[in-house]
Amino acid sequence: MADKIQMKTPLVEMDGDEMTRVIWQMIKDILILPYVDLKTEYYDLGLEYRNETNDQVTVDSAEATKRLGVAVKCATITPNAARMTEYDLKEMWKSPNGTIRAILDGTVFRTPILVRGITPYIPTWTKPITIARHAYGDVYKNTEMQVPAGSRCELVCTDKDGNEVRSLIHEMGDTDGIIQGMHNTDKSIASFARSCFNYALDEKKDLWFATKDTISKKYDHRFKDIFAELYEAEYKEKFEAAGIEYFYTLIDDAVARVIRSDGGYIWACKNYDGDVMSDMVATAYGSLAMMTSVLVSPEGIYEYEAAHGTVQRHYYKHLKGEETSTNSVATLFAWTGALRKRGELDGLADLVEFANRLEKATIDTIEDGVMTGDLYLLSTLENKKKVNTEDFLRAIAERL
Ligand code: NAP
Ligand code: MG
Repeated sequence: MADKIQMKTPLVEMDGDEMTRVIWQMIKDILILPYVDLKTEYYDLGLEYRNETNDQVTVDSAEATKRLGVAVKCATITPNAARMTEYDLKEMWKSPNGTIRAILDGTVFRTPILVRGITPYIPTWTKPITIARHAYGDVYKNTEMQVPAGSRCELVCTDKDGNEVRSLIHEMGDTDGIIQGMHNTDKSIASFARSCFNYALDEKKDLWFATKDTISKKYDHRFKDIFAELYEAEYKEKFEAAGIEYFYTLIDDAVARVIRSDGGYIWACKNYDGDVMSDMVATAYGSLAMMTSVLVSPEGIYEYEAAHGTVQRHYYKHLKGEETSTNSVATLFAWTGALRKRGELDGLADLVEFANRLEKATIDTIEDGVMTGDLYLLSTLENKKKVNTEDFLRAIAERL
């Protein structure tokens, strides 16, 4: 066998939990280590070790990502009451993804992987739609009240010199009601915009953005203006040179156009729109197990992962010694995404080429009819065959 592909800078490797932790090791053993002299800085984000280090390991892994520029992350458990007992936790630790995102100040881009034999529910979507969700503020950091009849509800802002500005929300009159206050910041919106513009240039795809600025003349309009100002000042020429477009429209016009489109663009969404639309788009393309996810910071730092969770139900079967047929594609594409980006940044053409070949071998395997149970249920191929978790990876290795 020829010499293994060499790396320069290590990847930040964030290990995780349950079935995806099992798959993580299999991907490395079967598809990466035989071909690449893999260099990683390893952080164990498995729940046990997060608990042991009081979650310091999560912070350390995010700091390492800032330093090295590219990370690959396995799915991790976000603790809830049941996990407190299951893992005998000292505290209900926060979501690692939330912690990492806060440190990197990044935007998450989710893109489906398309294969022949699995037709999206919207059959015209022949190319992937990437959703970018602004993961800060709005209704996710709101203050709300239930208020009694007769209340006068106002928005009050006190500036740093103590001056008050008031604005009437509503006089409740003869009925009880509800009110809500929310915010965003110019800084966060600008970071979001930069991540989106940079990623569009990276991927050479058009960028769409939409808000309800005709109704929300100050709040949503501010989003529209910040995007427009940054585009004019910093990105217009680069977009023109790359032959891609920045397209702004109203959110209702956007959803109508998305349905009519054939895909192939990045759709930047405000926080709530992204929450809702990402579930719709993921479902329309078929399987959550075929959805990739990358966190991109405004400075161009990348963290790749699968969009799905730790596939707990399959893990419990695995622990009982039963056979599983868990789809490893999104986790595998997190690895190829990270290796390709590392290769691009370090000028390693053979590493980039390896990542491309591994992705092609994966898609070829499924299009040849060899697939895990989730895809077997969806695929319209006639010669399809369901295989277990490990045999699927071995089938990819044969083609690689
Ligand atoms: P999940 O792990 O995404 O799995 C939900 C269901 O989707 C599975 O039971 C399975 O359906 C199907 N599925 C998801 N990925 C699959 C794959 N690769 N192959 C085959 N089927 C797949 O979500 P969950 O069960 O709600 O959450 C489990 C844990 O993951 C939780 O502790 C949660 O905190 C964590 N989580 C982590 C992340 C992250 O780290 N990014 C994201 C989401 C959730 P069937 O059982 O019907 O086969
Ligand atoms: Mg959602």
